[in-house]
Amino acid sequence: MPRQSWFDALQMFRLCAACGHVYHDNTPSVPGQQCPRCHTESASPNPYFVATISDVADLIAKFYQLPNLDVHPTITPPPLSRANALAILVFFCTLGEILLQHFLERAMQKLDLPPDVQQRLLDDNLFTKQRVQKLFPTLCGVKWNDAIKAISINSPDNFESTASFFLDASEHRNRLLHLGNTWQPPLDIAKQCFEHIAPLINLFVALHNIYLVRKL
Ligand SMILES: [Zn+2]
Repeated sequence: MPRQSWFDALQMFRLCAACGHVYHDNTPSVPGQQCPRCHTESASPNPYFVATISDVADLIAKFYQLPNLDVHPTITPPPLSRANALAILVFFCTLGEILLQHFLERAMQKLDLPPDVQQRLLDDNLFTKQRVQKLFPTLCGVKWNDAIKAISINSPDNFESTASFFLDASEHRNRLLHLGNTWQPPLDIAKQCFEHIAPLINLFVALHNIYLVRKL
């Protein structure tokens, strides 16, 4: 059965306070859930994602019906008008940028970088490409593409395809901003964005669970 909102769906990603592992929990928000990695019982439900991420995902759901995140592949929604397709593209890129920043902030916290240094690093790497190609390897000690390959092993999601679509979508969005009316998006851009939302969310969870968890 489709979930009512992305907010509900994203609330099901829990962060283990003991080891930092993020896991998907389908049970209602009750205390006492056990982390599948370190088996510590949580004192209270500890959602991993910040509300802004759910809000942006919910904006996309206003144009496209929310898919059931447990079903692969998700059902293809009907085509949209050009204006709505552009809205989806902008929301999708925004969602990806917030997810990336959310990850990078946690990576910097794990390294105990002072807040002013964290802000400077983000300010010095404003664009998605810079954050992925320069800041990510600095913080995680691995190139972005190699990290994506690492999380793709044993995953039902095609993270390499989603990661490359995310960067392409940012380029399309930038062209939209600079060329305005003269720019024509690929006809199926909204459909592609839609198909990559759930894998994009899973991608950042997978990166977290490799690079940002505490050693057991
Ligand atoms: Zn744990």
